[in-house]
Amino acid sequence: SLTAGIVGLPNVGKSTLFNAITKAGAEMANYPFATIEPNVGVVEVPDDRLARIQAIEPADKVVPTTFEFTDIAGIVKGASQGEGLGNKFLENIRQTDAIIQVVRAFEDSEITHVSGKVDPVEDIETINTELIIADLEQINNRYAKVEKAALNSKEKTAIAEYNVLKKIKPVLESGQPVRSLSFDEEEKKIVHNLFFLTDKPMLYVANIAEDDMADPTKSLLYQAVADYAAKDQAEVIGLAAKTEEEISEMDDSDKQDFLEMAGASEPGLNKLIRTAYHLLGLRTFFTAGGKETKAWTFKTGMKAPQVAGIIHSDFERGFIRAETISFTDLDTLGSVAAVKSAGKLRSEGKEYLVQDGDIINFRFNV
Ligand code: GDP
Repeated sequence: SLTAGIVGLPNVGKSTLFNAITKAGAEMANYPFATIEPNVGVVEVPDDRLARIQAIEPADKVVPTTFEFTDIAGIVKGASQGEGLGNKFLENIRQTDAIIQVVRAFEDSEITHVSGKVDPVEDIETINTELIIADLEQINNRYAKVEKAALNSKEKTAIAEYNVLKKIKPVLESGQPVRSLSFDEEEKKIVHNLFFLTDKPMLYVANIAEDDMADPTKSLLYQAVADYAAKDQAEVIGLAAKTEEEISEMDDSDKQDFLEMAGASEPGLNKLIRTAYHLLGLRTFFTAGGKETKAWTFKTGMKAPQVAGIIHSDFERGFIRAETISFTDLDTLGSVAAVKSAGKLRSEGKEYLVQDGDIINFRFNV
């Protein structure tokens, strides 16, 4: 499954955030923990639609879908030159599907900052420089060989790769990430096979002070991160990691009281999970009407038989059709019977692109 890696300079709140994630996940009843690595945190994806479906079509059990974070410890300045755990660190990032970069955006004289001052943009640039250098190395390792093949043998694949390298190199050299470029389908395949670090989607998590929880945009440090993200084809959220860790230990009613007092509508962790999920192109469909109301994760762009295969490979192999109701229709019309009589129960075939919020009953041959 797809995972988002958590990175950041020392002392910015990574472990604190990862603890909050792990504690939130520890409450989950349905996850086989034995199979999980210590640096992987699994959380339920918060989704209000589940409760709504359950209210309309009650089932014995409600099962949310899940999402995995990976804790990637150890980046320091000079990582791409093998400082600290540098190379190992970059290899670990290479194996994730998106990068979550935690940035310190809170003042606290008791907590040392590695560079001596709280400057989120400088911190981001320190890390991004390491990623860019690593990608440039990736290019330089291949450049001469591919160039030679392209110019001498006129081999088609070599020419195609050479053109891609030529396009990316100056962009990296100017300090911009690979994801700032757009590629056609053929180029995309080549880029994908080169596993660039700066091609991965990026989410900046500004670790703000608890006082800024209600409205992170009031924090100048948050603003600085948000402005940077906008120029960097990246996303941003603000949360207070230490407070999130405390919230994740509270029972539901304490949690509600605390959030109300803090003026926040939900834990920042929920926002983090949802944003990371979307950043990876993940979407949710539901199964309902039996013993379980259940949310499942699929990737945007998947067709009905492939999505059926997420439930069981037999469903994909013997796919006949997908009886589909959209959540919005069920929610507005209030019952499955009403959806049917309004003609909004759809029978979708092999080519159907599954949509976020679809409630599906797969028909298949065994
Ligand atoms: P890491 O090195 O990035 O994993 O950072 P840690 O999670 O260990 O945090 C470093 C220190 O900062 C610890 O003493 C934390 O308790 C503290 N810390 C983390 N998040 C916050 C926060 O949101 N506010 C404040 N005031 N302190 C925090």
